[in-house]
Amino acid sequence: MKSELAKLIELQKTDTRLRQLKNNIDTAETRRAELEDEFEKHASSIREIQNRLEGAKETKSGLEKDIAEAKVGLERAARNLKTAQDTKQYEAAMREIDSLNKQISNFETKILELMEVIDETSATLEQRADEVANLESDWEKTQAEFDESLDADKAELDKLSEARKEVFSGLPDRLAAVYDRLVSRSRDGIAVAEVIDDSCSACFMSLRKQVVVELKTTDQIVTCESCTRILYVDEQKASAVS
Ligand SMILES: [Zn+2]
Repeated sequence: MKSELAKLIELQKTDTRLRQLKNNIDTAETRRAELEDEFEKHASSIREIQNRLEGAKETKSGLEKDIAEAKVGLERAARNLKTAQDTKQYEAAMREIDSLNKQISNFETKILELMEVIDETSATLEQRADEVANLESDWEKTQAEFDESLDADKAELDKLSEARKEVFSGLPDRLAAVYDRLVSRSRDGIAVAEVIDDSCSACFMSLRKQVVVELKTTDQIVTCESCTRILYVDEQKASAVS
């Protein structure tokens, strides 16, 4: 039959895990929202590059049309120049040619700038091609993993809650009451603390030698003189060291 201390240790381990699971479940929606935010940021940074590329291509083809129109205008002005009847007509044609040439030169400068944007954004998208291609499927995978892990936590919580009832009911009433009182007093829910390096792992107080010896040699309930939690030494760890 298991000692009372062993039952207390088991109960504590069960409760600590239960706390962890409850915390995971309670924070699930917040964590999910954080994941969504992260994905959204990621997706919008790629969308922004794609939009810049598309915008630059559109503007460029608009400018190419403008250049074509200006060139038609140039031909017309050149004809007017040849057929000019007087100085006034001649000068008007000259002015139009001049103005259209300036326009074309402006359009060409803008096109060069746009080609730089197109090259730059295309190269970035090329570099990030895998990421772009897998964006949606990676996100679906992340969500599926998240749901899976949440479901597993919920299932474990249900199972462990049942197991806990059994462990708890196996304790003598006196110890169960002490345990409950200690748990309700502590913020971390720890009533049974492992002794690590001869100190209480809950309040970090060094234990007196006599207390350590008592812990290692008896199966009695020994409590921390500082925080009153029930102490135990992990036998497996202790024997691994010695
Ligand atoms: Zn302590």
